[in-house]
Amino acid sequence: MRIPILILISIILTLSDAVTRMAADTASDFIVVLDPGHGGKDYGAVGKTSNEKSINLEVARLVAGSLRQQDSIKVVMTRDDDTFLSLQERANVANRAHGDLFISIHVNSVDRRAKNRTTIAGASVYTLGLHRTAENLEVAKRENAVMVLEPDYSTTYSGFDPNSAESYIIFELNQNRHLDRSIQFAQTVQDELVSTAGRKDKGVRQAGFWVLMATSMPAILIELDFICNPQSEKYISSAAGQRKMADAIVNAVNAYRSGRKTLHSDEATQTAASDKKQEQTDSSGKIVYRIQILAADRPVRIGSSEFKGVKGIEQYEENGLYKYTVGNYDSMAEADRQLRKLRKTFPKAFVIKWAGNSRVY
Ligand SMILES: [Zn+2]
Repeated sequence: MRIPILILISIILTLSDAVTRMAADTASDFIVVLDPGHGGKDYGAVGKTSNEKSINLEVARLVAGSLRQQDSIKVVMTRDDDTFLSLQERANVANRAHGDLFISIHVNSVDRRAKNRTTIAGASVYTLGLHRTAENLEVAKRENAVMVLEPDYSTTYSGFDPNSAESYIIFELNQNRHLDRSIQFAQTVQDELVSTAGRKDKGVRQAGFWVLMATSMPAILIELDFICNPQSEKYISSAAGQRKMADAIVNAVNAYRSGRKTLHSDEATQTAASDKKQEQTDSSGKIVYRIQILAADRPVRIGSSEFKGVKGIEQYEENGLYKYTVGNYDSMAEADRQLRKLRKTFPKAFVIKWAGNSRVY
């Protein structure tokens, strides 16, 4: 039932892409769209002394300042202050501007329970594609999760559920749009973040980011470093660190623009291959199935009327959201049977896999 909708989206995006490219080809300036992630009520990842939305904005402003000093480069910012902007609005700004490059700037983090929370470090640059590891899917889910803060997100995003792994098939259908050029640029930015800004190299990766799919131009999403690691946080929130990271991005834009060959396609292929290997060893423990009925950005009391009298609610936290499930089934078939009944009360309920104390993908 979901597939025809997804194919339709794919066709619409491809058509709008063709129209946008035709219009862009007539413009002479090289247009860079900078997208500082999050803003306003959406703080993004939060560290001990700083937050993601402010770091993203500062770095984007520095990049904009440098690029604007050059002739024949035009810079468009999706936001230039601390305001909330939906993912679709960001893409709309980029498409209306007929950008030649779209650069979404973010800061990474891992779950509060992760053992490596204070030690994980490094930059990674993402292009659109189907994730090959659970880690990459988690990053995409966190960056897409903001859409559930919009009142009618299901309609706006054509039924896409940022929390449901199966929704992410849509990124497989759309992964070839500008992919070569996006990967080329991503690798250049990645190299620069390592050489100019001294970040640890976590490699070029692919995952399903809505904002990358909805933009009709080569598009990347940068995760500068991990805000949950105190050492990394110190660097990415410092004026000196932000200057270096901005310089890295500016150098990469100039290299891309002048067509200098800094592409390491072998490395990109190797990254994809090692991602695949990691995936096979990710899940462990006995798998059970639960039905997720609700997700919220703040805790919902278990006795609350929001649960419409359904009993046996359990809560878990993921990507800064509070999620509520019922049931614990040994087979997918049994979970599906219960899901059909529950959908009369919770039309958007879906089945998740569970092992030990956490959800698995
Ligand atoms: Zn982010």
